[in-house]
Amino acid sequence: MKNSHSNIFAFNKKILKKTTKNLIIGNVAALPTETVYGLAGNAYLKKAVRNIFRLKGRPQSNPLIIHYYNFQKAREDVVINKFFKKLYKKFCPGPITFILKKSRKSKVHPIACANLNSIAVRFPKHKIIRSILKKTNFPLAMPSANKSTNVSPVNSIDVLEEFNNKIKIIIDGGKSKIGIESTIVDLTSTPTILRPGIISKNMIEKTLKIKVKSKKKFNEIKSPGMMKKHYSPGMPVLINQTKPDGKSAFVYIGNRYKGKKNFFSLSKNFNLEVAASNLYRTFRIIKRKGYKKIQISKIPLVGCGIAINDRIKRASKF
Ligand code: AMP
Ligand code: MG
Repeated sequence: MKNSHSNIFAFNKKILKKTTKNLIIGNVAALPTETVYGLAGNAYLKKAVRNIFRLKGRPQSNPLIIHYYNFQKAREDVVINKFFKKLYKKFCPGPITFILKKSRKSKVHPIACANLNSIAVRFPKHKIIRSILKKTNFPLAMPSANKSTNVSPVNSIDVLEEFNNKIKIIIDGGKSKIGIESTIVDLTSTPTILRPGIISKNMIEKTLKIKVKSKKKFNEIKSPGMMKKHYSPGMPVLINQTKPDGKSAFVYIGNRYKGKKNFFSLSKNFNLEVAASNLYRTFRIIKRKGYKKIQISKIPLVGCGIAINDRIKRASKF
């Protein structure tokens, strides 16, 4: 069944078939996941991988995350280690990405991994992408379905806003529950968090029963692709703000400014997970309303607040 836009589709058997057919031959499709919407292509095919970089305007030095149905399907492409096994068991499928060594017989196209000898793998939880991954005998290279450096999309209309009709298949799977990108943990040596997310350092440490490192500045370039400017809503973003200037959009947590014009609460009852899930959505609403600048009040640096601070800091590098 088609939605009111000719390239947005509700999920059913027919669209599942059409999507897998397209993916097999190297075409791309925008798919819902629990984190954000992704632009998916067959990770084993050069054509598909190149399509993704071209559509996003993504530098070739920024490697893609490769998505699998399960451990079994991933084992040929990566070198398994004990940390991966433990974290997989605890959190997968779910919003966590592992950097592992690429196996010698890996079929993932080198361009997808920016020619590195490591590979980023994830096992998404959203049932639509899982049913597609289950049907295919290749994994999906899938960055967020937005133009490079923009805010990630959290519903099908956001994807349309980014690409108009350039993507022929956008599957609508409702609003992405988590609303920000996965936690990235590098397991090629001492476990190190490269990008904070909903699955926190603390949760990972508890599972591995060891201390885990965090890159001091998440903004730093570790892998070639970890660019500073990212998640930009297309206007200046000022962080740690205390005084609303009266005309900018003011983003905060709580209900202090309830009902007032120009004020946008990420979570009325101070829930940081809810705040994370509303972040990109709120940025897009603010942009659609025509604001020219965003002020954000201080967000607590605990739990999911760490991931929120990472994203808003990078959004502020306008
Ligand atoms: P995105 O697709 O926008 O969610 O970004 C994926 C992130 O994963 C980027 O920051 C990449 O730099 C990172 N990434 C992907 N593959 C690797 C890798 N092999 N080593 C380190 N980081 C990676
Ligand atoms: Mg992205």
